[in-house]
Amino acid sequence: MAITINEIIEAFDIRGAQDNYYENRKKRYASYTNRASSIGYFVPSLNGCQRKGVYERLNWRDKQLFDTQSYIRFEEGNRQEEHVLSDLKKWGFDIIKQQDDFIWEKYQISGHIDGKWKYKDIEPPVEIKSMSPFIFQKVGVYEDLNKESWLRAYKAQINIYMLYHNIEFGIFVCKDKSSGAIKPIVVEMDYQLAEDCLQTAEIINEHVKNKTYPDQINDHKVCEKCLYNHICMPDVEFGIPLKISEDKKAVQNIDYYLANKFKKKEIEHLWNDIIRPSIMAECDDEGRVNLILGKKYHITGKKDARGTFRSRIDLIGTEEEE
Ligand code: SF4
Repeated sequence: MAITINEIIEAFDIRGAQDNYYENRKKRYASYTNRASSIGYFVPSLNGCQRKGVYERLNWRDKQLFDTQSYIRFEEGNRQEEHVLSDLKKWGFDIIKQQDDFIWEKYQISGHIDGKWKYKDIEPPVEIKSMSPFIFQKVGVYEDLNKESWLRAYKAQINIYMLYHNIEFGIFVCKDKSSGAIKPIVVEMDYQLAEDCLQTAEIINEHVKNKTYPDQINDHKVCEKCLYNHICMPDVEFGIPLKISEDKKAVQNIDYYLANKFKKKEIEHLWNDIIRPSIMAECDDEGRVNLILGKKYHITGKKDARGTFRSRIDLIGTEEEE
């Protein structure tokens, strides 16, 4: 029988193959030390949670796994970071001691340095970070790393590397995943933060030794994203709080909008000046909405990576059901 184009499309299912590949690679890793790359998530002065640091050591088998898309993103980031190292060498920078692992026994901290730059008689650690174009534009100096929790974790990581290697300077090489542009952020030792990291490691180690846990923190936003929240707070429902509205006029507006979507000019005002602002008015303080409107529509929305509010309207019932 002749091969059809549909057969080819079905057989060449690379998206499915990619998903399967990463789905099968998902696993948890034993954590016998405090990883330098994670300590920033545990340090109170960086809005972290020490209890989470203890879970990482004692309960790593219970850790929730990231979704498949996150694994795909992480791997792509790793690939890009490897290329940056070889590019730096091509461009004449003396990058040495690549992928150097260390264990700081006293604090039970482990680290993995991407490389060191040999400059005169110093060797500052070099840490490569790939990021979205949006984040790439937002960062330029050390202080910009306060803008996101995972950027704050970078600060902790490089300061531990500097302290362990007894050097005043460290360098981030940031790469825009999309355009390929790169730029450095040169870091001078932040002694206060380095000290906070060591103190946090000591507190975690003490709890690990005694099989005890520090108190929970009181920050819903941090706990919501914590991969141990199911064992730390099993009774708490995380996610965007659901709101219910019986606003009939709002339902009629959406009915009209959806029925006339193709008449772009006619509905522009309705969407921009009436529906969209009314949806945004229902957002929580993180700019997210999860709304059931008149038992007919389920409206969800949040800001995208660029800070633009995006929403989606799903029909979940009919007026007859009302
Ligand atoms: S759920 Fe919150 S308190 Fe519990 S470990 Fe995670 S971040 Fe800490």
